Amino acid sequence: MLKVAKFGGSSVAGADQFRKVKAIIEADPARRVVVTSAAGKRSSSDHKLTDLLYLCHAHITYGVSCEDIVDTIRSRFAEIRDELGLQYDVEGDFDRLLPRLNRDMGVDELVSRGEYFTSRLMAEYLGYRFVDAADCVFFRLDGQLDREKTYAAIAEALEKYERILIPGFYGKLPTGKIKVMTRGGSDITGALAAAAANADVYENWTDVSGILMADPKIVENPAPISKITFAELQELAFMGASVLHEDSIAPVKERGIPLNIRNTNRPEDPGTMIVESVDEEAEQERFITGIAGRRNFTILTVKKHGMNTCESLRQALETLERSHVPVEHITMGLDSFALVAATAALGDGVYEIIADIQKAVRPDDVTVKEGISLVATVGRKMTSRPGTSGRLFHALGKSGINIRTIAQGADELSIIVGVENEDFEKAIRVLYERFAG
Ligand code: ASP
Repeated sequence: MLKVAKFGGSSVAGADQFRKVKAIIEADPARRVVVTSAAGKRSSSDHKLTDLLYLCHAHITYGVSCEDIVDTIRSRFAEIRDELGLQYDVEGDFDRLLPRLNRDMGVDELVSRGEYFTSRLMAEYLGYRFVDAADCVFFRLDGQLDREKTYAAIAEALEKYERILIPGFYGKLPTGKIKVMTRGGSDITGALAAAAANADVYENWTDVSGILMADPKIVENPAPISKITFAELQELAFMGASVLHEDSIAPVKERGIPLNIRNTNRPEDPGTMIVESVDEEAEQERFITGIAGRRNFTILTVKKHGMNTCESLRQALETLERSHVPVEHITMGLDSFALVAATAALGDGVYEIIADIQKAVRPDDVTVKEGISLVATVGRKMTSRPGTSGRLFHALGKSGINIRTIAQGADELSIIVGVENEDFEKAIRVLYERFAG
């Protein structure tokens, strides 16, 4: 049995959090591979080290002294070390780093030091072998991850050492330079390590007990999701539920490795298990998996008597394609169709786009409706049960919520409704009550 445990920034924010991590690691000897983010916020008014490092770089760029920030960063690390009685020479490593700040050190290398220092301390504290991401996570020259090379290097490290710790978020380019991933990238490093190690599970330790069925800012005390498929997660994430870095899914999904989201502050909670498929028979779970949504969409409705739908739709879509506007949904009627796009993506060009559609399609009418929110109700069980959409529309109608557009995901994993922005939160609450409350 082998588990990869990735700890996010809040899980390694200070000495107390380090202690919790150690207890988690010691509770299960299968947790042989650990990946950590840079120390995050200890309280809501605190700063993430990654943010401080970016700030530091901005100061250097504009020729402003960053001494104070460097002091803050150094003392955060030194504090953890001293509180835990570790040996790591934080000051020495900082002293070697500082002269390079204004010279050859790129922003990526500087920012990656958040993960580097946090991991050095954690590796010593856990008694794990520190394996630098610069030696086992590789990018190609085009900036894309070189997964095969990365897998081979991590597997090799695991052959040599029983227990390893890898800093998240960065790796090395073929030029030898350090490159960081996009924000939240330690999730990706964890997923790469899990795939490389052929782990039995990839545990992603954070500060919530799994994925919630709805946004807790909208629904009071939403229930956690105990099991969700990768496909459902993708739908929820696309509709605004932010859980994991989206690029962290593919490596584990491809190798059939389940992903478990856990809470470092409540390790007794089972968290959310993300799996490829669920044995429906054995399942006692709720009818829907989750509800998510996004605000600010625009519906463009095109009407033309006797329209050749294929041709007109193609012409309208080409117009949007030329303007690089992605279309989220398309609904069709007999002599009309409606295109839904993010209002921000249409931007100021919306009237030009309409003019272009008018030229290309020669419709009787084009209307624009802004201020639309899309709300997705996601659930793998919806496919097999008739009447779901009826119940959904009924619940919304009964609450006086006007549905402006309806779409069902092609794989029937979700039903998406468009409502007025001002009904956004109410719609989510009503649906939660109806299906999950
Ligand atoms: N420390 C990086 C960030 O704040 C990466 C991570 O935490 O995953 O984005």
